Amino acid sequence: MTPDEGLKNIQWEEFLSKSISASSIGEWWFCQALISNEKLFGEIETPETIEGSKLHEEEASKIIEALGPLEEVKVESLFDAMIHSRRNIENALRNREVLANSDDTILFRAICPEIGYVGTPDEVDCSDGRDPIVVELKTTGNRPWKPWTNHEAQIGAYMLGMERLGFHQSYGRLRYRVRDSDAPITEFIVNMDDRLRNLVLSSARSIISILSGSDPEPTRNVNKCRSCKYSQLCQWSLSRSPD
Ligand code: SF4
Repeated sequence: MTPDEGLKNIQWEEFLSKSISASSIGEWWFCQALISNEKLFGEIETPETIEGSKLHEEEASKIIEALGPLEEVKVESLFDAMIHSRRNIENALRNREVLANSDDTILFRAICPEIGYVGTPDEVDCSDGRDPIVVELKTTGNRPWKPWTNHEAQIGAYMLGMERLGFHQSYGRLRYRVRDSDAPITEFIVNMDDRLRNLVLSSARSIISILSGSDPEPTRNVNKCRSCKYSQLCQWSLSRSPD
């Protein structure tokens, strides 16, 4: 399916303000209470998230610089945003390039108007000239032996967004870099199948319901709470220090 004319009537800024993020779809799979806490307390940065963002920005900047001068495009409607993303990816497929997104330069987005989410994948590899392959890079404390479900759901949301732009998606690449380590990057292939679609769709529906006031089902895993940025604020925290 490709962007349709009806999306011209939806202002981009308005859609952005009402949509959920693809990253929240991943967070839901870590712990549903993250959705409530983000709404209540806002985004919280930790040394780990700051370091992860810094590494991503460095890598994205290199990729974007290599593309040469870029044309600035005015995006007014949801249709504009989708066409902008689609054209950039089509060009990258023609030129067999890799595209990346940085804080300052968004070259493509994954957008699902019907579900109401938007996300900015780290990279899309168009070097085979046929299908854009979404690439997501995560920085973790340990080398995982299989992809984490929350990361699979996030990259799945990106892939569904690519499909909505009209691109065939059969798999994405999930890369793990171990924090403060020279260990090589570990890459997993995440296949686009019914399981992945269900991961995305079921969590997106639940997020919309939680944001409308439903109670989340928080994790029962104390280790998740210990490493959680909301551990001292969250009413469901299993690791909060006594007041
Ligand atoms: S502190 Fe625990 S229950 Fe609360 S959001 Fe974090 S992981 Fe979930």
